[in-house]
Amino acid sequence: MVLGVIGGTGLETLPLFSAAVQENIVTPYGEVCLYKVRYGGADLFFLPRHGLTHSVPPHLINYRANIAALSKVGANQVLAFCSVGSMVESIRPGSLVLMEQFVDATWGREHTFSEVGRVGHAEMTHPYCTRLSALAREAAAANGIKLTPGGVYYCTQGPRFETPAEIKIYSALGCNVVGMTSVPETSLAKEAGLCLASIGIVGNYAAGLTAKIDSADVTVKTRAAEYKVCAIIESVITALTEERDCDCAEGGFISF
Ligand SMILES: [Zn+2]
Repeated sequence: MVLGVIGGTGLETLPLFSAAVQENIVTPYGEVCLYKVRYGGADLFFLPRHGLTHSVPPHLINYRANIAALSKVGANQVLAFCSVGSMVESIRPGSLVLMEQFVDATWGREHTFSEVGRVGHAEMTHPYCTRLSALAREAAAANGIKLTPGGVYYCTQGPRFETPAEIKIYSALGCNVVGMTSVPETSLAKEAGLCLASIGIVGNYAAGLTAKIDSADVTVKTRAAEYKVCAIIESVITALTEERDCDCAEGGFISF
């Protein structure tokens, strides 16, 4: 059994991976450092999407190489954690949100494996794997962790934060959290036939709902959730099966 874990801002390292061994994976899109550890009968591969020292900004992440590397090591089930801003009062900083949908406002990113001679149209009715999302929801419940369902992620280009006027628009569109990395990570996972569920850790209220966003405070808030993140990962592993009872695999058009 193989599980991929992607860590975002504030989750560049996790206690679960303290004894992990670095593996450099060569992909057609570049080399990726993964951190492998054996846990509960499964191989876990950790991928800090901003690098171990948070050196890669959201718009410069090599998303294609990351997903290709996870695919190559057989991590066809992936839990992705990301720091998000909340656009509604009821989703409070420090809490966790399970993603259900996204709206993509990124640009200029290498966003697809599709190319001349290899045309694919990822089906995005359920952008995040419903089966793996259900496992994450059950894992949170089993650990007494509140995981708010129904996250609708507005993905900005970043790296700047949003203006209050932008937040009003995104919120009016039906989105409740805002972030900079779930796209194209999620759509590339679909193209590669991977199951990906995403959990947002709310680092802050978005602009206009708070006086000022403090980047350092976002990181502190996210890091404070690491024990919850590890508990969810550990419980998901116990429920994970090799057999994937969902249609993610058949939706993919490329593997590595
Ligand atoms: Zn799936």
